[in-house]
Amino acid sequence: MKPSTLRIGYRYRANRLASNYNAIVIGSGMGGLTTACLLSDLGWKVCVLEQHYTAGGYTHSYERNGYEWDVGVHYIGDVGARTRTRRMFDFLTDGKLKWSAMDEEYDRFYIGEKVFCAKAGRKPFRDNLVNQFPMEVDAIDRYMHLLSQAGAALSAFGARRVMTPWVRRLLAPYFKWKMPDFIFRNTHDVLRELTDNEDLIAVICGQWGDMGLPPKQSSFMVHSMIARHYLYGGYYPIGGSWKIAHYMIPKIQASGGEVFTYAMVKEIMIEDGRTVGVKMENEHEIECPVVISSAGVDITFNQLLSDSVVSESGYRGLLPSVRPSSGHLCLYVGLKATAEELGLPKTNFWIYPSNDYDGALKDFTVDDKAPFPVVYISFPSAKDPDYLNRHPGTATIEIVAPAPYDMFSAWQDSTWGKRGEVYEELKTRLSARLLRHLYEKLPHLEGQIDYHELSTPVSTKWFAAYRHGELYGLDHTPERLQQDWLRPKTNIKGLWLTGQDILTCGVTGAMMSGLLTATSLVGGRQISPLLKRIFK
Ligand SMILES: Cc1cc2nc3c(=O)[nH]c(=O)nc-3n(C[C@H](O)[C@H](O)[C@H](O)COP(=O)(O)OP(=O)(O)OC[C@H]3O[C@@H](n4cnc5c(N)ncnc54)[C@H](O)[C@@H]3O)c2cc1C
Repeated sequence: MKPSTLRIGYRYRANRLASNYNAIVIGSGMGGLTTACLLSDLGWKVCVLEQHYTAGGYTHSYERNGYEWDVGVHYIGDVGARTRTRRMFDFLTDGKLKWSAMDEEYDRFYIGEKVFCAKAGRKPFRDNLVNQFPMEVDAIDRYMHLLSQAGAALSAFGARRVMTPWVRRLLAPYFKWKMPDFIFRNTHDVLRELTDNEDLIAVICGQWGDMGLPPKQSSFMVHSMIARHYLYGGYYPIGGSWKIAHYMIPKIQASGGEVFTYAMVKEIMIEDGRTVGVKMENEHEIECPVVISSAGVDITFNQLLSDSVVSESGYRGLLPSVRPSSGHLCLYVGLKATAEELGLPKTNFWIYPSNDYDGALKDFTVDDKAPFPVVYISFPSAKDPDYLNRHPGTATIEIVAPAPYDMFSAWQDSTWGKRGEVYEELKTRLSARLLRHLYEKLPHLEGQIDYHELSTPVSTKWFAAYRHGELYGLDHTPERLQQDWLRPKTNIKGLWLTGQDILTCGVTGAMMSGLLTATSLVGGRQISPLLKRIFK
């Protein structure tokens, strides 16, 4: 089997390091790279250390057998106009990253025997819901109003993350006003106050897979963030998601920094309560007074810092308030015909056994032979107008389903590609089940598939380092969203956090966390001129 050749970043060797970096960033996902780019723009020399063979974290793509797939990006919202999100992407990629719009019907929901969809644009989205549920106009309009209110709350939520505890306390009445209690409640409870139509609730929550928790467990804040994010439709980064990091890295290099791959950090070194650098897996030490970890809260506190540092800095007691998100399966499929020839849509399919999303997830968690609680099908080559230039005459499909880590934990210490027959048989059975969902919706694809391979939560652990194969870092429960310690500045001098755990998951969530971390690090006065340039 031909290995992947799509690799970006510079292979780490101790003798390739420059001296006197101003900051070290652990992890080259969107959170880490954004922080590094912004600091680099301010003249900092930043060293990004990525344990994987390629940079980008969950935005990386890989090639095999003449096909190319993205591992953690299917669609991004809010980039079709000059929004703040779009301006950030333009700035970070020097305007080189271009976007391709998906179909107007960007998400289709198969709920039991019924089919619904989401349409791009605030009014089309609302009118389409009304068409599907004509008796529920009032509930739909009240829901749209809640989404607007949540918009202001989300900005306040981000701002709170960069404030010191005493400023947060001082501004408590303001935040209480801006962040009404309902945004911290669970999604289903909030929606049940609008309607008792469970089909409508299911359609409104049809994107729950985008944050990994069904409506009775998720926080309404994250639900509304995702709903708002895709309200104007879905977009795909032209050339593949790996282009995001590819266009960002030169910004870091321009001020003397670098993004190193195969660079596994083993320890964040703390002396007398102060960060002094990192120790690499090969025991090499890189000294630096500023370390920014984008590796996730779990890895940072449970793996990279010593027990005594975690206890003395007060984090030991805080960690139980958060938990890892679920793992996932992804079937990467290659076909020897183009998306056009195969009639593949620029629409994501979400397939649910019924409108009881929480019940279905629970059933599957206790019995993996139960129906998948959700099967998500995405057609990347159909979305990417450049795909055929790279891989002529072919098409790709990705089929994702949640999977508890425990289902695979028996193989957690084994080597990728050498996990033995039992594991391979399990993968074969799961792949066949996922393919059945594809053939049910697009029967003409049966017999057309040239290649497929399944990733499991232990593959995620192997490649992305998440210790429980997490899909989205920390779980997005209402409790997690209330944890003010999930912020860029830590209690340990010189150690900062960034990435999806300090704000929310999603490429944009991680990107905005990078903005918060850079702001927190350099302070308002220094970041302001840069923000003016970005958001002018
Ligand atoms: C299957 C899937 C589908 C998704 N689909 C979408 C989508 O369609 N749209 C969307 O917006 N979002 C999507 N997401 C979510 C999105 O990709 C992530 O939320 C976001 O990219 C996370 O960025 P991050 O920087 O926080 O973390 P990551 O991208 O995970 O980066 C963390 C990095 O740290 C590195 N690291 C960890 N430990 C070490 C160490 N000790 N030393 C060195 N490096 C280390 C890891 O290798 C990794 O590269 C999806 C995610 C998945 C998994």
